[in-house]
Amino acid sequence: MSEFLSRRLTGLKPYVPGEQPQERQYIKLNTNESPFPPSPLAMYMARRQLSELNLYSDPECRLLTGAACEALGVNEDEIVFGNGSDEILNFAFAAFCDTETGAVFPDITYGFYRVFADFYGISRSVIPLNSVFEIDPEEYAEAGGTVFIANPNAPTGIALPLCDVERIVASNPRNVVVVDEVYVDFGGQSALPLIRKYSNLLVVRTFSKSRSLAGGRLGFGIACPSIISDLNKVRFSTNPYNVNRMTMAAGAGAFADTEYFEKCVAEIKKNRSFITEKLKKLGFYVTESSANFVFARHETLSGGFVCSALKERGILVRHFDGERIKDFNRITVGSAAEMEKLAMTLEEIL
Ligand SMILES: *Cc1c(COP(=O)(O)O)cnc(C)c1O
Repeated sequence: MSEFLSRRLTGLKPYVPGEQPQERQYIKLNTNESPFPPSPLAMYMARRQLSELNLYSDPECRLLTGAACEALGVNEDEIVFGNGSDEILNFAFAAFCDTETGAVFPDITYGFYRVFADFYGISRSVIPLNSVFEIDPEEYAEAGGTVFIANPNAPTGIALPLCDVERIVASNPRNVVVVDEVYVDFGGQSALPLIRKYSNLLVVRTFSKSRSLAGGRLGFGIACPSIISDLNKVRFSTNPYNVNRMTMAAGAGAFADTEYFEKCVAEIKKNRSFITEKLKKLGFYVTESSANFVFARHETLSGGFVCSALKERGILVRHFDGERIKDFNRITVGSAAEMEKLAMTLEEIL
């Protein structure tokens, strides 16, 4: 730390991303990426942008907006794009929370919510999940702050039924409820159909997980026009060219290639069932996952041990040391071959 760092940031503990090794070849099951390459159409469209990189990207993201409106059945003024969904979350914290209006989220959820709250000096109110890691919607009624819920939740993979999401949105008319749906394509019900019914709902999605574009950095928010306009106020006050040309084109291609998208998602769901059954047979307790990862605890081995034993054998998974989840590992569902290899390696360790 230099002597110049803002006082506001001296105590901040930043987000710790999963390891992205650049030297050794690991089977990477630690950051919930897709094991499949981007859609061929996405790659073709991105490549065509190379010779245009001397020009700024379109701050209105029109190419993408058109494709998204078609794919999702929303209007142009109901969507905003970001450099990953993390940026949309960042905009939401900047736009809808302040010191009086704090942030409300579960104890076990995406670690970035805590970091954004601390970064902006926003008070946080943390509501514990129940003993089987579920959200009780009753506990979020009149929550008194901007609510952040990941659905399906991370790292548990557990989905909240749409009627429960609606209860939370309906019982917080004075605050925005952000529903982070980055995993919704793998299961769970989207709150998208509710955006015209509730003016306090913001749905957040990404291309990182189900559309094989984690490295492209592309996410979006969907809400009523006034919420979108607030997010755009933050966007145009910080980084109006937040989506680069290649990513914008890749995103439009990925949206258009529904067939490829559906094939990839179906494959992940199949591999998720396979690895869930295997893990259970090997003595793991596995939560009911609606996402592209499983969350598993062994009956005798500690979570830290399983994580490092796998790493020694060339497989990366994600271990968190939070008190309630330290005996679990979050394991990305990869290709069939990767899941076979994982199962064999776990057998060997046991
Ligand atoms: C992966 C993830 C994100 C961020 O994804 P981007 O790559 O920034 O789009 C946001 N929320 C949750 C719950 C995630 O797991």
